[in-house]
Amino acid sequence: MSGRELMTGEMCVKCGLCEAVCPSRLSSLRSLDLDRSGVLPEEIVNCTTCNRCVASCPRNVPITKAIERMRRSLTTPGYGETLANISTYGTSIVPSSPCNVDVKSCKVAYFAGCLTNHRLRDIGAAVEYTLDYLGIEYTRIPEVCCGSPLNRIGRFDLARKMLEKNLAMLRAQGVETVITSCPGCTSTLLEYQDEFEILHYLDLYDRHRMYADVSRDDLVATLQFPCHLYRNVSPYTMVVAEQILSAMYDYRRLPEADRCCGAGGGVRRNDLALSRQLKARKVDDIRALAPDIVITTCPQCKVHLSEDVPGIEDLSVVLAKALGFNGK
Ligand code: SF4
Ligand code: SF4
Repeated sequence: MSGRELMTGEMCVKCGLCEAVCPSRLSSLRSLDLDRSGVLPEEIVNCTTCNRCVASCPRNVPITKAIERMRRSLTTPGYGETLANISTYGTSIVPSSPCNVDVKSCKVAYFAGCLTNHRLRDIGAAVEYTLDYLGIEYTRIPEVCCGSPLNRIGRFDLARKMLEKNLAMLRAQGVETVITSCPGCTSTLLEYQDEFEILHYLDLYDRHRMYADVSRDDLVATLQFPCHLYRNVSPYTMVVAEQILSAMYDYRRLPEADRCCGAGGGVRRNDLALSRQLKARKVDDIRALAPDIVITTCPQCKVHLSEDVPGIEDLSVVLAKALGFNGK
């Protein structure tokens, strides 16, 4: 089924709500189904796949999935870079160094994702510290990309192949539960929730009521809601994140906390200037609040926002530090 077919029929009532909420100001969402010319609206490369349009649509039109399908036929330098990295390294980014992991038969695995494995290793170390703190035995696997960046650009077949490679490794170790820390990996792995229990670390921390184990200080903290966790996985993840931060700090919610930071959907790689432009409002909101600490729960948000918000941390890291993790 093509993207255009997904938008046809009785589904879209042309109310325009999707366009009104779009951070990238896409203006052709209402007319995607009317475009019979075979020419794709150029602006679809600017979609961050934040899913705000879908959340606002009264008819549940799968707009983001339609855009991803349309992108299948596009080649851009950014999309080419993702495809080249996957075919060369098996990861969506160029690996910094070999990622050596201990593999063993175990019912629980921690799946960190490319950015954490190769750029933000403190997040992986923090999650592992917390698993040890909880006494949970786990394995790692020599991960390849979960396929999420490929899905965002419509390369669904290749994405499925990458995911299957990971699933085969998990099955070989007898894994039943997969702990994650990346929103993109989490939503991708959730396609297999009939076979595996998929838990983002926030689900795990909620299950173990971890906010009861931390002491509070008076620092003002705020939180960037990652689109792919809040809207693609569950809004409840941010309820848990806010609960933990309220137990640890003087927590204050950002205005439009769930507004996209501009990094997703391949936009940062494809058009850095646009992704920085989309970030400006978020940065203004953070500066106006003037918190002591800014938190997110997405490696991609962290990389993008850290250009303007030095010291932004992943929640896994601040929680682990409160439990004794030394950051190494
Ligand atoms: S919000 Fe939904 S129904 Fe309204 S114009 Fe957009 S796709 Fe159509
Ligand atoms: S997913 Fe986000 S950026 Fe893309 S069209 Fe919808 S609202 Fe706009």
